[in-house]
Amino acid sequence: MDLKLTDKFAVVTGSTAGIGQAIANSLAAEGARVVVNGRSQESVDAALKQMDLGDQAIGVAADVSTDEGCQTLLDRATDVAPIDILINNAGIFEPKPFEEITDQDWQKFFEVNVMSGVRMSRGVMESMRQRGWGRILFIASESAINIPVEMVHYGMTKTAQLAISRGLAKTLKDTGVTVNSVLPGPTWSEGVERFVKSLAGDGDLDSVKKNFFAENRPASLIQRFAKPEEVAAMATYLCGEQAGTTTGAAVRCDGGIVDTCF
Ligand code: NAD
Repeated sequence: MDLKLTDKFAVVTGSTAGIGQAIANSLAAEGARVVVNGRSQESVDAALKQMDLGDQAIGVAADVSTDEGCQTLLDRATDVAPIDILINNAGIFEPKPFEEITDQDWQKFFEVNVMSGVRMSRGVMESMRQRGWGRILFIASESAINIPVEMVHYGMTKTAQLAISRGLAKTLKDTGVTVNSVLPGPTWSEGVERFVKSLAGDGDLDSVKKNFFAENRPASLIQRFAKPEEVAAMATYLCGEQAGTTTGAAVRCDGGIVDTCF
């Protein structure tokens, strides 16, 4: 299938590792030019080297949890070309019992996971509307629906992304711009490796990884971690020309962990 992404210009927030990097690679493989973003110049340079995309990739170091960082990313990207595709991927997660989640934690999670996508979307929507084409994706999570008891603050941010994505799709009705959220299930990224290590404590990582689904995610129908590339394939399809009728949707690639069929 030719997704008709050749020469489209995409910004993927938080793409120096994990799912974001896999999405940037996958969009580039379909011919798009991509902006690779992380917080530090060092991480961006290392990712660009590893991804080896040549002129197809541009690196921008910017912290998208701040208004200033989002503006830097938007300015640097639009200096190159108008943004056709925005992937709001940057996100953080960390297990913490509810009674230990401080006000600062709640606010930090909201700024990184929610406000980054709000600010970036606000920055691209008018240009997409005027050009009659655009794709905005929020990389949410199955945790938007199955609120994880070990990180309620994270679940809150992921549910918020679904509301924003749906509301923005309605705002951009009849414009050629689609807005969707993608709901991955547990996916073996750098961030999840840290997360599983923190669950393991001093225990053996391999056995915690092996028992993770039986003990922590028994509802998963695939009983394994997804690969970032599997999530990237779904995200890339949604950016393609052929996905033009999918908008305002929460699209699952969650390994069947959410117990509904619609
Ligand atoms: P990861 O930690 O492996 O990678 C996250 C990337 O975002 C890194 O490149 C990091 O540098 C970057 N980043 C973090 N904060 C940033 C900031 N303020 N500004 C710019 N860049 C920043 O994470 P991942 O597992 O690949 O997760 C990516 C997204 O997918 C997140 O939104 C996460 O909530 C979501 N998700 C992940 C899983 C999973 O199991 N891995 C499941 C569902 C949803």
